[in-house]
Amino acid sequence: MERITTHRVIVVGSGPAGCTAAIYLSRANLAPLVLEGLQPGGQLTITTDVENYPGFPEGILGPKLMDLMRQQAERFGAVFKMEQIESVNLRTHPFVLTTDQREYECDALIIAAGASAMQLGLDSEKSLQGFGVSYCATCDGFFFKGKEIVVVGGGDSAMEEATFLTKFASKVTVVHRRTELRASKIMQERALSNSKIEFVYDTAVEEVIGTKEGGVTSLKVRNLKTNAASEMKAQGLFVAIGHTPNTKVYEGQLELDERGYIVLPHRNSTQTNIHGVFACGDAVDHVYRQAVTAAGTGCMAALDTERWLTHERITERWDLPKGEEERVG
Ligand code: NAP
Repeated sequence: MERITTHRVIVVGSGPAGCTAAIYLSRANLAPLVLEGLQPGGQLTITTDVENYPGFPEGILGPKLMDLMRQQAERFGAVFKMEQIESVNLRTHPFVLTTDQREYECDALIIAAGASAMQLGLDSEKSLQGFGVSYCATCDGFFFKGKEIVVVGGGDSAMEEATFLTKFASKVTVVHRRTELRASKIMQERALSNSKIEFVYDTAVEEVIGTKEGGVTSLKVRNLKTNAASEMKAQGLFVAIGHTPNTKVYEGQLELDERGYIVLPHRNSTQTNIHGVFACGDAVDHVYRQAVTAAGTGCMAALDTERWLTHERITERWDLPKGEEERVG
């Protein structure tokens, strides 16, 4: 590791939470550095139409919305870097973050690292990832033109993926482990009224059958009520069963709940169990998980950070105009 770069504030993650935090921090003259991670723009970059973000009555494409948010933050001086954090030391101050490219120090840290798609946990699922098994219909749907596809899950994501996939597939089957769908009424109705979508309830996928050369050909499934096993024809499997927070790197330092979400121990504050470390967005929230709520908490984290830096008199120690100082380490 050759160089250490010191910043007042680093934001980890560049979805709606990270970008909104960056907009507020840069407008407060705190020149934030945003470490974008492996999926710049976050989960909205792998969706199509966003119809529930206020201000866009006709809807807006997810990637476009994220591009606009990023441009807005950059306009006020935020700097974005496509680097992934490998380890952190939050026991010292300034905090130390190590990425694949260098080491960073910062006085305050905002974690807006989001969440990632959950997997079924099958060996065959893993080995056929990218060869017929996918977690993102908008990324991969195009490759399944005229094919029969299975979507696993019963939530809004599964309904959205299934509906989207009917643009390409000859048939989409939603396989859900219970009889009741978890999805919101409007999303359910949209999928249930689509003649290309079939529903198979009380059923779990136990094995994905296929090869890397030939792709997926079928699935071994089991009816959880009758325990009967059967084979279901499928040339693609889309897993849409929820998400897990991207917080592994903070384990043992930040307080996390049993599912790995960052705990915010203080009422009306985005501060974590460590002073100077704030968290927002889907890395914290497993209840609402909307772009607009993530953006709102990103704003809160930026305001909390600004107040904390002022309260700790850290802002006063920085008299550099741009807020960035590089030294050879
Ligand atoms: P979710 O609401 O947690 O639903 C996950 C679904 O997958 C559930 O039906 C669950 O079954 C099933 N599941 C979980 N683990 C499984 C496993 N190992 N094997 C088989 N099935 C499994 O997740 P989500 O659908 O991703 O939605 C998350 C949040 O994002 C929600 O608040 C949702 O409203 C929001 N969202 C909104 C939109 C939109 O408005 N456009 C789109 C997508 C998501 P059980 O029901 O049995 O638990």
